[in-house]
Order: sequence, then C-alpha cells, then structure tokens
Amino acid sequence: MPKEGIDWANLGFGFSEVNCHIRYVWRDGKWSEGEFVKKPEITMHIGASCLHYGQECFEGMKAFRQKDGRIVVFRPEENAKRMARTAERCVMPAIPVDMFVDAVDKVVRANEEYVPPYGTGGSLYIRPLLIGTGPQIGVAPAKEFTFMVIVMPVGAYYKGGLKPVRAVILDDWDRAAPNGMGDVKVGGNYAASLYAHEKAKREGWPVELYLDAKTHQYVEEFSTSNFLGITKDGTYVTPDSHSVLPSITNLSLMQCAEDLGWKVERRPIPYTEIKEFAEVAACGTAVVVTPVWEITRGDDVIVISDKDAVGEHLQKLYETVQGIQYGVIEDVHGWCHEVPL
Ligand SMILES: *Cc1c(COP(=O)(O)O)cnc(C)c1O
Repeated sequence: MPKEGIDWANLGFGFSEVNCHIRYVWRDGKWSEGEFVKKPEITMHIGASCLHYGQECFEGMKAFRQKDGRIVVFRPEENAKRMARTAERCVMPAIPVDMFVDAVDKVVRANEEYVPPYGTGGSLYIRPLLIGTGPQIGVAPAKEFTFMVIVMPVGAYYKGGLKPVRAVILDDWDRAAPNGMGDVKVGGNYAASLYAHEKAKREGWPVELYLDAKTHQYVEEFSTSNFLGITKDGTYVTPDSHSVLPSITNLSLMQCAEDLGWKVERRPIPYTEIKEFAEVAACGTAVVVTPVWEITRGDDVIVISDKDAVGEHLQKLYETVQGIQYGVIEDVHGWCHEVPL
C-alpha cells in the first residue's frame, strides 16, 4: 500500500530517500549476490575508474501502480539489453538480462510503499547504474565494478496534460560524434551536453535539439530525448542515425503508431524538413512525449504549431502509452512486467 503522509499529487522529478537500493559487486570475474543497502551514500576507492575516466553507464525506467494495486514495470528487458550493449561499449561486464530484471523486481518490492497510488499520475522512477569501482590510474578498464538499482517516487512531469515547449539548435556544440558514444547510455553524453543545455535554459529554451555532428544538416535528437515528427499526411518519422540513443519510448510509440494504422518511417531527416512537419515532439521515459511548438536556429525560427496546441497524433500516442502503463488499455504486446509482491 502507498505510504501515508506523502503529498503524491505534488511530487516533482527529483531525488528523494526511500527504504533502500540494491547493490552487486563484480570481482574475480563474477557478480556477487544482491544486497539491500539502506544508506544512500557509497564508499569507493579514490582511484575508481568511474571517477577518473568516466567508466559508468545508467538506465531509466518506471514502475506504475495499477487500479487493483498491482505494480508493473514498463519493458525492463529492453533496458537490460540496452545496458548490456552500453556495458560492452565501455568495457564493463554485462549484467545478464535475468539478473537485471530480478534486481529491479527486488528493489521495487522492497520499496513498494513508495510506488505512487493509481490516479495521481505518479510512478516509481528506477535508475540502474553500473560503474567501475576498481582503482585504475593507468588508462584501462577497472577490475572491480558495482551495479546498483536505486528508485524514487516521481510525479507527472506536466500536471494537467501535455504542455508544448520551444526548442533551440545551438550549432556551436555537438552532443555525440558520428562514431562516438551517442548510441549508448553513458553519463559522458550528459556531461557533453550540460553546458549547451544550461545556456539554452538561461536563454529561454527548455530543450535543445542536436543536428548530426559531421554536417549539421540532419536532425539527431534532443539532449535527453529522441526526436519524432508527424508529417501532414500523418506519417510518424524519426531519425535513423548511428549517434542517436535508441529510446525505448520511441520504439514503443512507433509500434503504437503502426497499431493505429499510421505509416512509420525511420530515416535521415534533413533540417530543412522540420518546417514541413505538422507535429514535432521529444520522447523519453520521463514525459513519454513533449510536444515542441517552435524550433529556433540562429535567425531561423520555425513555428510548427500554436503555442498551446497539442496535435491530435501526439495526444493519441501519449494516451495510448500511458493507458498501457497504467493498465487501462490492453497490453497487446506484453510490455508490462508485473513485479511479484
Ligand atoms: C535515455 C535517453 C533517451 C530516452 O530513452 P528512453 O528509453 O525512451 O527513456 C533519449 N535520448 C538520450 C540521449 C537518452 O539518454
């Protein structure tokens, strides 16, 4: 049962303390048993490779309480597979999919009372983290790693429905190189975009959009979410690029769009095509879809839609994915993983 005394309706998206997280250590070629840790601090060697050389990666997903009290996690196997790909790219030991999902189940169960009640729009944010904790001063992968899954209750990102935002393209900064790390979920990508992100925010744009680093002619993605456009004839279009993070939300939205009978295209999107779109959005776990009504690049201001208007396609996609997550729309693809309580 949800814990008493929490203002569920007014939760933000931030850190809060819960009962515990789960922690595993990799030594001598194998993972330890998972251990629940109450304290939110970690002690590690000052030479840990995550501190010096950024050997770290993470994931993000959510658990949702259903009307009948059950708790489901949205597509955790996909996050497990993505983390395994990221780990390989960072020369870290992969977490087997079964171990990953089991860790998620255990930590959600141990913090069951922090999963917000049905109907509040909240969820339990789940953040797996894999870091090199062995000392390594010559540049080389660590010999010890720590895998943790932390959780925290979060509120609906936009209370009272979707709110379109303005985006900006800042040509002076790139997020990811063509053959860099853009397609894996490492903290370094966030470090790379933080400066531009803060600048954009200071100047009045909540999100910044990146073009491909090599030619600055094709759309890639926003700093923390994928790009999708809906053409005037209702086709769902998203960039096909080697340096875009494969968003599980985007994958799910593409499937929903197909299920709704819409055409779906994954292909290069020239910057010049943006003005042709009827609807544009950012998508990711935190918000599902954030409509974008305007995109600025220097003196070029592309107005996609009315400032307060949410396009009908985006609205439909949002309601479909949220409906599946909260168990009010049939989960025909088996995306919801029930946490054994
Ligand atoms: C995590 C992330 C996304 C969104 O992925 P989801 O699986 O949908 O949450 C998009 N872009 C970047 C750069 C990300 O790190």
